[in-house]
Amino acid sequence: MFVTKPRLFLAYVFENRFAVPSFNVSNLEMARAVIEAAELENAPVMVQTDFINFDYAGIDELSAIIRTLAEKAAAPVLMHQDHPGKDENIFRTLRRGYPSVMYDGGHLPLAENIAGTARFAEAAHAVGAILETEIGQFGGEYQGGHTVTAAAHDTAEMVQKGGADTLAVSVGSMHGQKSRLDLDLLSNIAKATRIPLVLHGGSGIHPDDIKVATELNVYKVNIGAALIRGFVEGLEEAAKLPTDWEPRHQQMLRYVTNKLRDIARHRLSLFRASGHGKKLLEQLATAKDDLAERVTRS
Ligand SMILES: [Zn+2]
Repeated sequence: MFVTKPRLFLAYVFENRFAVPSFNVSNLEMARAVIEAAELENAPVMVQTDFINFDYAGIDELSAIIRTLAEKAAAPVLMHQDHPGKDENIFRTLRRGYPSVMYDGGHLPLAENIAGTARFAEAAHAVGAILETEIGQFGGEYQGGHTVTAAAHDTAEMVQKGGADTLAVSVGSMHGQKSRLDLDLLSNIAKATRIPLVLHGGSGIHPDDIKVATELNVYKVNIGAALIRGFVEGLEEAAKLPTDWEPRHQQMLRYVTNKLRDIARHRLSLFRASGHGKKLLEQLATAKDDLAERVTRS
């Protein structure tokens, strides 16, 4: 199912205290692998695209591929726009029907970040989409190497004034690198915000920390690097395979897709998303409208 009621999706995950991996994809094979993984795990999944993915594949092309696969899927698939690169890309993705988008203002002074968040929260909500915003920076390959840790009091102010539905917080994870989380800080942020939280740089977070994080309001964990590595390693392995009945390029990409599907299944299971797919599908199918209010923990 291509999910069009993002707050219901969010509320289900938040209430059941697990996390959904949000996989970055840039081609048909990656999108197919993660959606098939969700079907096999009976799990909800998020599929996301950032500006680097768009530069490679094109917004229209990539969103059409994801939507087509999601519409046929026996699992709930929420399509999300990750780091937009430029603000105007948020309008572009909203126009193409993304039910969930991110405003990328973590590098700005807090007041500017809040003002930008409020602007795009209004735009997203006007078309029934939800907005993720960011406090701090996750560094690594995509943010110039610098990590800026979130401050709990900033996150409270952001939630109060910014109006975003979810908040990505930098509490130790880094884009593309191994990490341990500052769980005390995450706990303080959870108390200060009470809305669903997001972690970027999810590929390298220690599995024990992910488990605790889901108890501390984290509902979405971004997975980019693990699929990139899997894709490249898969191609190298596939190049050494003996030829079979299939044209060589298809044989290789099929091998890669299967490898990525296993990687995605492992993450779905690790984040305890497995087993929730059908129940959430039913709720999404029977609800007439999406929730009107932001999802919060009382
Ligand atoms: Zn990120």
